[in-house]
Amino acid sequence: MQKPGTATPDRSDRFPARDRFAQGAQHIAGRLRHGTSGRTHTVVDPATGDEVLTYELAGAADVDAAVTAARAAFPGWAGATPGERSDALHRLAAVLADRAEEFARAESLQCGKPLKLTREFDVPGTIDNTAFFAGAARHLQGQSAGEYSGDHTSYVRREPIGVVGSIAPWNYPLQMAAWKILPAIAAGNTVVLKPAELTPLTSLLFAEAVTLAGIPDGVVNIVTGAGGEAGEHLVGHPDVAMTSFTGSTAVGKRVAGIATATVKRLHLELGGKAPFVVFDDADLEAAVHGAVAGALINTGQDCTAATRAYVQRPLYEAFVERTAALMESVRLGDPFAPGTDLGPLVSHTQRDRVAAVVDRARAYARVVTGGEPPEGDLKAGAYYRPTLIADAAQDSEVVQSEIFGPVLVVLPFDTDDEGIRLANDTPYGLAASAWSRDVYRANRATREIQAGCVWINDHIPIISEMPHGGHKASGFGKDMSAYSFEEYTQLKHVMFDNTAVARKDWHRTVFGDRP
Ligand code: NAD
Repeated sequence: MQKPGTATPDRSDRFPARDRFAQGAQHIAGRLRHGTSGRTHTVVDPATGDEVLTYELAGAADVDAAVTAARAAFPGWAGATPGERSDALHRLAAVLADRAEEFARAESLQCGKPLKLTREFDVPGTIDNTAFFAGAARHLQGQSAGEYSGDHTSYVRREPIGVVGSIAPWNYPLQMAAWKILPAIAAGNTVVLKPAELTPLTSLLFAEAVTLAGIPDGVVNIVTGAGGEAGEHLVGHPDVAMTSFTGSTAVGKRVAGIATATVKRLHLELGGKAPFVVFDDADLEAAVHGAVAGALINTGQDCTAATRAYVQRPLYEAFVERTAALMESVRLGDPFAPGTDLGPLVSHTQRDRVAAVVDRARAYARVVTGGEPPEGDLKAGAYYRPTLIADAAQDSEVVQSEIFGPVLVVLPFDTDDEGIRLANDTPYGLAASAWSRDVYRANRATREIQAGCVWINDHIPIISEMPHGGHKASGFGKDMSAYSFEEYTQLKHVMFDNTAVARKDWHRTVFGDRP
């Protein structure tokens, strides 16, 4: 059984959201202001259900104001030298590092993440990403120049696109804001970001840090509004040149429709259902620890989380038994209490959604452990016990659909061919892992598993230098790494005539004869 931590009722020392955002929860042209939609949203601490902040949501007029600010800032920012943009991002990394504890507390409060996760993963990852793009800003590359026609010199300019409209989800609000904003501004674009309504706090703190770093007003704007209203208005806005969306595949399809109708460049980072394939020569102990960490990170609300463990028959029974035992040792508790491993889900709605999927699964599968909220002190929060499900069919809901909670389903397989086929048998293709000590087996898995990332003998780690993005219904385009510049820049072919003659040879194809 889980050992419940203690939920502390007093929130006052956690993060003073009401004081920090007394001026409103929209950051437009370098300052906070209130939204004008006429509707409010309440940020709730999912660990207790207590109110954290009630703010006025952005409406269409606020999105328009943010886009106007971003448009006005674009020529100056695009015209800054790479060195100037790099210096600004180095200053931003320093501001973020100075304020790391405040970011960690705000993120933990609004998401329910244990402080050890925000302190050791979300916040340092964001600072590292900022430092990476500070360097990468000076290395934007185009093709070398040349005389390809004989009569001309051609070269390629790599240019920013303009105003980028970005939309982010609630699972990693700070990191998603950083992944959207950093490559875009490093390349000279300006940004209007809409975070998820549930979790605006750290995107607003990030924009404040941008201002403190001396990045000009309007380069980064935050509109905190509802998806169907502010989000769709941003995607369809005629002055927005690109839509960069991270969220569910269902909403991504809708966003793609609106963006396509206005001929925008599109970058989609969508859902995942990562397979975790354990071959019979794997280190069982490593695979069990990897599965529990990979499935439960961020309470399973991670688009790359391990969700489907396929275990070759000789290891299957032992894997199920040991994974269940390790899951039962994970300590649920107050996200701010030392010793808490796992916090609540982001909201009671999300917890109930996860619980409903598991309850439906009881009709066709076996819940090995978990499958219910914890009792006791944690009852008021959006908690759910780590859950292992076995004996589900490959075409069942728990195997095919994104659950986005602390739920791992485990299935046996016999041959290597079957393991790889089952791993590929969902619409998604974001991330996957394979576990083996045989280099040929592992290498085959990296080639044949259809996913944007394949780990061998690990599951989850990400690094700023390497791209993150999906295959199949998990979307297209890359976050992080120098590859993300392919999304946030456009190429221009420049062609100089070298002949200086008035009547060029090719003109005869339009008028006259060969001279
Ligand atoms: P979601 O799709 O419900 O919402 C994402 C964002 O879209 C939010 O800001 C929301 O307000 C906005 N939105 C909703 N409807 C909209 C509309 N009609 N037009 C424009 N914007 C709209 O996703 P979520 O529940 O916030 O996040 C969880 C999902 O995000 C999961 O599916 C997860 O896999 C995915 N995700 C993917 C990645 C990745 O890198 N591929 C990373 C993190 C999360």
